[in-house]
Amino acid sequence: MSNPIPMLDIRAQHAPLDDALRDAFERTLQSGRFIMGPEVSGFEAEVAEYLGVSHAIGVSSGTDALIVSLMALDIGAGDEVITTPFSFFATAGCIARLGATPVFVDIDPITFNLDAEKVGAAITENTKAILPVHLFGQACDMRTLHEVAGDIPIVEDAAQSLGCSFDGKRVGGIGTLGCFSFFPSKNLGCFGDGGLVTTNDDALAEKVRVLRLHGSKPKYFHKIVGGNFRLDALQAALLRVKLPALESWHEGRRRNAALYDSRFDEAGLSNVTRPEARYERHVYNQYVLRVPAREELMARLKAESIGHAIYYPRALHLQECFAYLGGAVGDCPITEKACDEVLAIPVFPELSEAQLSRVADIVIEHAKHHA
Ligand SMILES: *Cc1c(COP(=O)(O)O)cnc(C)c1O
Repeated sequence: MSNPIPMLDIRAQHAPLDDALRDAFERTLQSGRFIMGPEVSGFEAEVAEYLGVSHAIGVSSGTDALIVSLMALDIGAGDEVITTPFSFFATAGCIARLGATPVFVDIDPITFNLDAEKVGAAITENTKAILPVHLFGQACDMRTLHEVAGDIPIVEDAAQSLGCSFDGKRVGGIGTLGCFSFFPSKNLGCFGDGGLVTTNDDALAEKVRVLRLHGSKPKYFHKIVGGNFRLDALQAALLRVKLPALESWHEGRRRNAALYDSRFDEAGLSNVTRPEARYERHVYNQYVLRVPAREELMARLKAESIGHAIYYPRALHLQECFAYLGGAVGDCPITEKACDEVLAIPVFPELSEAQLSRVADIVIEHAKHHA
């Protein structure tokens, strides 16, 4: 039996950084400073430079990045926020948690992202923001979205796409606000939960910073109600060690995706659709196929101990918790079809060519059998 191939091997990623990560831990331990402080502001400056944005604000998670961004835009009861039904739950959950209404618009079948052309028809006088997701590491069509949005603020959910770019600009700095996650399985992960809000708007940046500390400024004087949305100093210190390696990890993911692409091209598969990169630069947080007889391929991968996952098995407009919105099967057919067909296979940077080949062989054999 061949060795298992996981979806992600976080220990392999950290091994070359082991000493530097221990130094960062030691430095934080010795400083005795665990909330805010120089590690957080140092990381914020470094990641702002990497992203080419004026402001980067460390927060407690990607989910909290979304919540605090929508709070900064004063979104609440009676407001509508247009978003995609094909994403991790937090995207729509945050809208609902603030008492606003998620309005779902179907996706583009190639990028799996919000179909910007269809957004216009969903805009009403109550639309207070548009929340596109840059899913799997690839940007949404931000050019069309900007044209359609006019003055309506755009909050980018870039949780899976730190370092991805569109028209030469890194995502998170294209809309009004950008939201990132450092959950361990993202391209830049921390050692627990963490997130980031980005913006080029000075007033919004100030508001996010104040909201992050219970809305207080100065301390113990509260003009607005915020929350505890802080990024830990220890997470910031560890992220500062990992950030300089991020570009090499992106390159590794892109190299692996290209290898899969060329194997599937050579095999001439017509019934497996690859995640065609439509916009530069895809950073492949996930490599997602559409396959026939998905359950059968999953069983085969499982038998061979090869990691695989379905992102996502159920569209957001069909989730039980959103039944009150009246969503029905057929509302977003492209999303619903994707939910039935998608399968993510391992693409993390440390995979060997032999491992990638083994995964590709299995996919090809399966697709030929179902051709
Ligand atoms: C991971 C993720 C989030 C949430 O980030 P957390 O840090 O886990 O809270 C939000 N949106 C998308 C698209 C994500 O992938």
